[in-house]
Order: sequence, then structure tokens, then C-alpha cells
Amino acid sequence: MSDHVHVRLREGLGVNDDGDLVEQFACRCGAVWAKTYPLEGGQPDQ
Ligand SMILES: [Zn+2]
Repeated sequence: MSDHVHVRLREGLGVNDDGDLVEQFACRCGAVWAKTYPLEGGQPDQ
């Protein structure tokens, strides 16, 4: 592939096993990303 600027299209929202909000993105080329939003007041050490 030549230079390609990924376009992050939001695919959906979900919740992972830790209960954090996960936003999923995908480009039409097949690249995918996931952005996690930790819950406010969460305790990372648990
Ligand atoms: Zn792409």
C-alpha cells in the first residue's frame, strides 16, 4: 500500500471485562483501534 491516511470510523461502543468503556474504530482498509475510557474513580491497582 502507498501512503494511506487512516480514517477512524467509529464502529461501536462496548464494555470490557474490567467494566471500562471501550470505543472501537476501524478504517475501511481493515486497521482497527480501540480506545478505552477507565471509569471515573476506578482503582487501577485492583
Ligand atoms: Zn486505513
